Amino acid sequence: ARMTEICARAYRLLVDEVGFPAEDIVFDPNIFAIATGIEEHNNYGVDFIEATRWIRDNLPYAKVSGGVSNVSFSFRGNDPAREAIHTVFLYHAIRAGMTMGIVNAGMVGVYDDLAPELRERVEDVVLNRRPDATERMIEVAGTLKAGGAKVEQSLEWREQEVGARLTHAMVHGITQWIIEDTEEARAGIAARGGRPIEVIEGPLMDGMNVVGDLFGAGKMFLPQVVKSARVMKQAVGHLVPFIEAEKALSGEVKAKGKIVIATVKGDVHDIGKNIVSVVLQCNNYEVVNMGVMVPAQQILDRAREEKADIIGLSGLITPSLEEMSHVAREMERQGFTLPLLIGGATTSRTHTAVKIAPGYTRGPIVWVPDASRSVSVCSSLLSEDEVVRRKYLDELAQDYDKVREQHANKRGPDLIPLARARANAQRIDWPAYVPPKPTFTGTRQLRNYDLAEIAACIDWGPFFQTWDLAGPYPKILDDAIVGEAARNVFRDGQAMLKKLIEGRWLTANAVFALYPANAVGDDIEVYADDARTKVLMTWHNLRQQNQKPEGRANQCLSDYVAPKVTGLADYIGAFAVTAGLNIDKRVDDYERRNDDYSAIMLKALADRLAEAFTELLHKRVRREFWGYARDEVLDNNQLIAEQYRGVRPAPGYPACPDHTEKPALFTLLNAPDVGITLTESHAMMPASSVCGFYLSHPDAQYFAVGKINRDQVEDYAKRKGMPLESAERWLAPNLGYEPGLVKAA
Ligand code: SAH
Repeated sequence: ARMTEICARAYRLLVDEVGFPAEDIVFDPNIFAIATGIEEHNNYGVDFIEATRWIRDNLPYAKVSGGVSNVSFSFRGNDPAREAIHTVFLYHAIRAGMTMGIVNAGMVGVYDDLAPELRERVEDVVLNRRPDATERMIEVAGTLKAGGAKVEQSLEWREQEVGARLTHAMVHGITQWIIEDTEEARAGIAARGGRPIEVIEGPLMDGMNVVGDLFGAGKMFLPQVVKSARVMKQAVGHLVPFIEAEKALSGEVKAKGKIVIATVKGDVHDIGKNIVSVVLQCNNYEVVNMGVMVPAQQILDRAREEKADIIGLSGLITPSLEEMSHVAREMERQGFTLPLLIGGATTSRTHTAVKIAPGYTRGPIVWVPDASRSVSVCSSLLSEDEVVRRKYLDELAQDYDKVREQHANKRGPDLIPLARARANAQRIDWPAYVPPKPTFTGTRQLRNYDLAEIAACIDWGPFFQTWDLAGPYPKILDDAIVGEAARNVFRDGQAMLKKLIEGRWLTANAVFALYPANAVGDDIEVYADDARTKVLMTWHNLRQQNQKPEGRANQCLSDYVAPKVTGLADYIGAFAVTAGLNIDKRVDDYERRNDDYSAIMLKALADRLAEAFTELLHKRVRREFWGYARDEVLDNNQLIAEQYRGVRPAPGYPACPDHTEKPALFTLLNAPDVGITLTESHAMMPASSVCGFYLSHPDAQYFAVGKINRDQVEDYAKRKGMPLESAERWLAPNLGYEPGLVKAA
């Protein structure tokens, strides 16, 4: 109905209002994939055919086209099946009035030549004639398969006894037979009077131990471990009803310890934390994963309730560092003595030792650099061997004392007065410069952007980092040590990406703006229009304040925008992009099916797509919308290497580390209108989102503001209309002085 409605409206506009010749109109009502296993897709073939019929009947002279290969997309890899589907589809669509189509001519057969049984089944699918049409199509499709497209895996291990099969499945992450094998093991044990729990304690734990050992020895990598965990969870999922029926109490399998883990209040990033949870679970720790944005008190209450042995905190953005310190202080105040683990991208050993640990003295605090380290940390902390535990704790205490001492003795950079830093700003020859004028000013939204186009711009490098696999892409695929793990996780990622694009699992939206702007001191004023009188937003910036060697400037991003006093009509851009809309439902589905591997994979892909969309949008801004680089031709690698003119500094990153600039940016863009919002710590939701500004000057570059002094923080707080203490809290990682100490006269 929507297809015909849109075509009808376009037709009336074109014919009645524009006076466009009706016979020159070709409509493409869109052909989507059928037989995908998703019920809503079943009628897509019929929808196209019926829309075609309606258009030809009701919109005189208009023609109808369609991209045909899409219809059989779910059978990719099986050309004979696709050919049969195309043949049948075209037969019916042409009879309904389809005038033209795009199709691989080598993949269309003759309707009458199709074997009657095949034709019937294909027709059932294309015309959506029976609910089991897809299954019946899959049955025959298997028999059609022409020659070894898929490498057959050796199945010799299936001949082994069931315990060995379970172990094999665990080590290799194979879920295909896990339920039947688990059931066979359970039945066997039950037959000799044993209990269902023995399946877990026996073959499953054996498998997990092998996985743990291989991982510990660096012979197995994170993606594989997460896959093994999926096997374990599914097997346990099958056993739970039996265990409960037997009224065996949970907790029978003695876990090595219980960990309550959470992403702190204001933060939404949880890939790393979820990986840690899975890795710990694989190693027989019980993990209570509280999710994201969890307030301190909830974490502590839960830890008490669960009688946890350890609390773990995670966070990605710098404001989370403060929140972690807060949790630590609350633990102290409320009398906790449990070990506290700290992890996440902006955390560090120094920060943990210097800033967090002093607030919590009753129990140990450990910084955990990555998931693979979490197991050894927990096992040391909870070791039953008192000597081992004491030794670990002593070493830890000494180590952190040393870090604190080194930090105290470390002389920070020499900071110069703000006025001197300003006098040493980046010089740009403004009189010789003509700022490029954008093709429009104002805000524009791009909704529901084509995921396939975005995917082509993905930078795969960080994908491997997410999985703790180190090395540059694509070389990592051939790496002697991690190559195989990298290839496998890459293949799984690509496969899910295809499904995600085809099934439109995620919605990618963006909003960007181009406005007149000028620098006023260290700030950048964004104006409503070319009169440059009405200020829409002031982007407050910080300036490097460390003593620079001769000839090096104390940079500030405002240096790269023409100062108001020059009278030059300069511009800046702003953007917010997301690829994470609608992700939650899918992630929940995976988690419910005990498939953490896929849940983490999907989040990792959404992050990749958000970054890729950002890259793509920036390119379009340079080439089309701002249009200062119309002739730019750069391939994906050159884009990733930032070989273009201009930059897109992102708040929270080193050149503009203050996250509190985001609310104004979001207001300017009205980002919530495309589905992107901010938490109280100014983390973006959905997590797979990116925001920032565009600067076009050829000299503009990224740099780190680094440490700043109190004179600048005071000036900045005043410019922002923010209390000094508040500015100091948000800028904590950048303070080159001890806040709270009274300034010497
Ligand atoms: N290819 C990467 C995306 C680029 S990350 C991926 O797919 O993940 C680099 C981005 O981080 C830049 O485009 C910019 O937006 C931001 N950035 C990097 N360094 C910065 C700095 N010093 N100050 C501000 N933003 C910075």
